[in-house]
This record gives sequence, structure tokens and C-alpha cells, in this order.
Amino acid sequence: MPMPAFRFDNTYARELPGFYTAWQPARVPAPQPLYFNAALAEELGLDATALQGEAGAAVFAGNVVPEGAEPLAQAYAGHQFGGFSPRLGDGRALLLGEVIDSHGQRRDIALKGSGRTPYSRGGDGKAAVGPMLREVLIGEAMHALGIPTTRALAVAATGERVLRERPWPGAVLTRVAASHLRVGTFQFFLAEGDLPRLRQLLDYAIARHDPALAGTPGREMAFLRAVAQRQARLIAQWMNVGFIHGVMNTDNMTISGETIDYGPCAFMEAYSPDTVFSSIDHGGRYAYGNQPGIARWNLARLAETLLPLVADENDEAAVQRVVAEATAVIDGFPVWCAQALLQGQRAKLGLQATADDEEDGRLVDAWLALLQNQAVDFTLAWRLLADAAEGRPEPLRDQFRDRAALDAWLQRWQQRLAQDHAALPLPPAERAAAMRRVSPWVIPRNHQVEAALAAATAGDMAPFHTLLAALQRPFDSDPALAPYAVPAPLAETAAYQTF
Ligand code: AMP
Ligand code: MG
Ligand code: MG
Repeated sequence: MPMPAFRFDNTYARELPGFYTAWQPARVPAPQPLYFNAALAEELGLDATALQGEAGAAVFAGNVVPEGAEPLAQAYAGHQFGGFSPRLGDGRALLLGEVIDSHGQRRDIALKGSGRTPYSRGGDGKAAVGPMLREVLIGEAMHALGIPTTRALAVAATGERVLRERPWPGAVLTRVAASHLRVGTFQFFLAEGDLPRLRQLLDYAIARHDPALAGTPGREMAFLRAVAQRQARLIAQWMNVGFIHGVMNTDNMTISGETIDYGPCAFMEAYSPDTVFSSIDHGGRYAYGNQPGIARWNLARLAETLLPLVADENDEAAVQRVVAEATAVIDGFPVWCAQALLQGQRAKLGLQATADDEEDGRLVDAWLALLQNQAVDFTLAWRLLADAAEGRPEPLRDQFRDRAALDAWLQRWQQRLAQDHAALPLPPAERAAAMRRVSPWVIPRNHQVEAALAAATAGDMAPFHTLLAALQRPFDSDPALAPYAVPAPLAETAAYQTF
């Protein structure tokens, strides 16, 4: 009797009947392993040897449901580009179950692309190799950058074709998440007018993500605040590496504070706050610089789902009290986000000592204005600033056409560094090293991601694996990584579009 590969403990299935539909993955003709994250498997306490190769592919493609799994499609709603859909749900995903990882954390194991479910609407429930491997590359890059994210455990090819604008080879992704609870999960039960289930969902979410709040009076607004603070830190981290999520619908915003859904996301190259890569984001709703505002809007939608749990709508005074509390969180969000952003930017500037926010904010604004005016690569500019901190400004200067403007800013920055040094002495080499720990050299460059995925789709996984290896050490100064630190040719960047 082989040891089960997963030790499942499925609280969602057990505690939340009525929140999902039990469902089985579709059978596929020819499962083949494309990717397996052995390190993550180990972190999850899985039997990695049982999950390698063809035996693993049969599980990860959905043909073999592992012992202890209770596959289910979760119900959720969502605002997509501002328009509300009361019934989205897992249209092509299934939660297999939960495991406790080696840190004692509960993690969801889910399939994506595993076939139609009762929530599929017009969709085929399937996924193609390219987008699923894209989720691996960007997700693992985000993880290596220290940004909370869902992770890819495996990708299995299915041996069938998926029809999009043309037929593509199909695949299933196995996704690991702190949970799949979203703002949209709460919206689903508000739309149903089901307050008992909304309450049950809140208590489940609290038990899972904010256990210190369990059973406390006033936990509804404390929970809202906790979610908002996680999102503020997350969005600030995105912004400080130039990440553009691309589809920040309320069903794609987690309660856990992890990044989820790597569909149309991409990293900015030349700095411009209005950068959009998604071909479906016509109005630029989810542009780089709009992300804090959109997150706030999404959090207001979460707040709306919690209000009826706190105050009886006929009790005018109670309603006013709780609305004021919720408003304090929603209005606090941009402040928390800006603070987290500035904290990150300060580290990227090489500043260590505490100082005046407003002055440093102006220094950052002037720097970003320079990058924008001269269309300088965001990642390289920040990275090369570390060289400048060590007395080697030339590589940075080479990125700018108008060097006089840069030099004027550098002088201002050097003065600020001198002040910082006086408050908290730090040798230049150590300061530069600290800067290189927060400003990556390697990010998923769009043209390189596309090249690796095109090769993988054509059957050659080698470029995917070499790119992934580079993305897993974004802060290293290894010269071997140089080919991955090159911006796309300008014309290519301007034209780049994700789905
Ligand atoms: P997304 O834009 O990826 O966040 O997905 C939004 C909704 O569309 C979710 O309910 C998904 O499950 C559903 N969906 C996306 N792609 C498909 C597909 N190929 N088949 C069925 N449902 C899908
Ligand atoms: Mg989604
Ligand atoms: Mg998606």
C-alpha cells in the first residue's frame, strides 16, 4: 500500500457546505509532466517521489484524484472591470483540498484548467500550456522577489488541444494558495442576501487568516482593516518592482494578501504610471499607477459585504457608526499604501535612518519624473543606483539622454545620503549591497517570457527552465544573469500586449 502523496485536511469541504459544488476533474487523453516544483512539494510535506514523472502527471492533469482529496468548485461573485457578476465561481478550477505545510500553515491545493464546472458559463473549463507556464514563471519570480503570491506546484500537459484564437496544446496547473477566499466570495453571499452564510464565511476567513480576531466583538471591521493592511503592503511591493497585475477584479483580490491570477499581468519596462499591457483593459482601469486606487475601490466592495453583519439596517445610529468605522479603513488604505510604498522606496534609495517623509517623498517623485521624462527602464535605473552609491554613476548615466538633469538629481540624493550616513554610518559598499537586496536585477522581461513560452508550446522546455532559474535569483549580481537583465527593444515594448 503506497503512502498517500498528500495528507489532506479539508476544512472548506467540511465546514462550508453550500459554499461550493463537489465536482470531479475532466479526464484527459495523455497526461505528461511539464513542470514540477520539488522544493515547494517538500515545503508542503508531500511525498515528492510519488508525484514525479508520469504518476505525478496523472494527478496534476486531473486523471487520478489523490486519496483524501475532495474536489470542489468554489462559488464566488465579482466586479469585472467595474461591472458586477453575481455568479462567477470556479469555472475552470477545482480545490482538491488543504494540507498543513512544514511551517504549520494551511495551504490550498487546486487545479486550474481541469474542465467545465457548474460555474463555467460559456467557457470550456480548459487552459493552454503557454498561459499556465506563464503563471509558473511570473509567480515564482514574485516569490523570489519576496512578494506574497500563490505558487505553482506543477503543470501537466493534457495531450488535447484547447481552442482559443487557434488551437493550442492544453495543460492543467496545480496552484498552491494560503486560501482561495476572495473579495468576490463575500460578494457572492451578499448578492444572495444570505447573511447567515456571510457570517459563517467571515468566521471561517478569520479562523484561517486572522485567528487572533476569532470570537472578538467588533471583529468584522477589525477583519476589514487586516485585509486592507495586507493589501496595502502587497500593492506597495508590486509597485516597487514595476508589477502590473492587469485584472484587479474583485474576484482576483485575495483575503490572504497573496497575489493571485497571473493572466494578463506584466512588468513595466520604461517607467510610466499609465502603463497597461492587457489587451482587454481598454480604459486603462488597471494601469500601473491606478493600482492603489483600484485596490481601495475593491476594499470598499468588501466593506459593503460586512456592514449588514454589524448593524441592523433599521437602526440608523448603529448603521452610521459602522459606516464611519468602515470609512476610516477605506480612507486609511491610500495612506497605508503610500507609507509602505515610501518605506520600500527609501530602502531602494539606500536610506536607512528614519527621516522626514515629505522630503523623501519629493526626492522619489523627482527621480520618477526623470525616469518618466526620459523613458528609462524602471528596473535597471533602480538597480544601477546601487552602483552610483558606491561611486560608480556611469552605468546609470548611460541610461539617460539628458545627463545634466540626472546629475542635478544625483547631487541632491548624495546630500541626502550624507545626512543618512551621519545619522547611521554605513560604508558605501554595504549601502550598495543593501540596495541590491531590494532592487532586483532580473525580472520577467516580457519578450523573454514570450520566447520561453513559444518554445515550450512548440515542445522545447529548455528556455523555460533557464529563464525560471534566472528569475529565482533576482537580486544576484552574477554576470551570468546579464542576458536576463536586458530591456526589450523599445518598439517591442511599446507594442507588447498580454491577453
Ligand atoms: P479570470 O478573468 O481568470 O479571473 O476569470 C473570471 C471568471 O471566468 C472565473 O469565474 C473563471 O473561472 C472563469 N473562466 C475563465 N476562463 C474560463 C474558461 N476557459 N472556462 C470556464 N470558465 C472560465
Ligand atoms: Mg481569476
Ligand atoms: Mg485568470
